[in-house]
Amino acid sequence: MRCPTCGASESKVVDSRPSEDDLSIRRRRQCLGCGRRFTTYERLGDNPLIVVKSDGSSEAYDREKLMRGLLIACAKRPVSPEQIGTLIDGIENDLRNASVGEIRSADLGDLVLQKLSGFDEVAYVRFASVYKDFQSLEEFASALEAFRRHE
Ligand SMILES: [Zn+2]
Repeated sequence: MRCPTCGASESKVVDSRPSEDDLSIRRRRQCLGCGRRFTTYERLGDNPLIVVKSDGSSEAYDREKLMRGLLIACAKRPVSPEQIGTLIDGIENDLRNASVGEIRSADLGDLVLQKLSGFDEVAYVRFASVYKDFQSLEEFASALEAFRRHE
């Protein structure tokens, strides 16, 4: 939970309450480095992110689901699961640093594409060919599976 202003990793919680959707805990934190206050939305454990689908419903961000989709996009590519994990870490860090509590699934897709663009061209194309239409990571994963079956 890094400070969005100075990047310090130490902060204290000054206020804590359930968010309106009941899916997460809204926390006001104060950075121990620069003293700035910022808000985080945290799932039990360390999933701070809510994904809003295009129909307006929302679900907790699911790292495993994103991982499955990326493993499929990277199938038969010279990419290790560890590298994909690092890519996802980068996405999660960006979102944390921006203090984002929720994200539209389409925006999450854009972020993934940004990361993939410097990573693996084929995986990028596979991902790009389906992500624009997906309503949720679930649909996205099944679209990728369908894509793989046609290879
Ligand atoms: Zn700070």
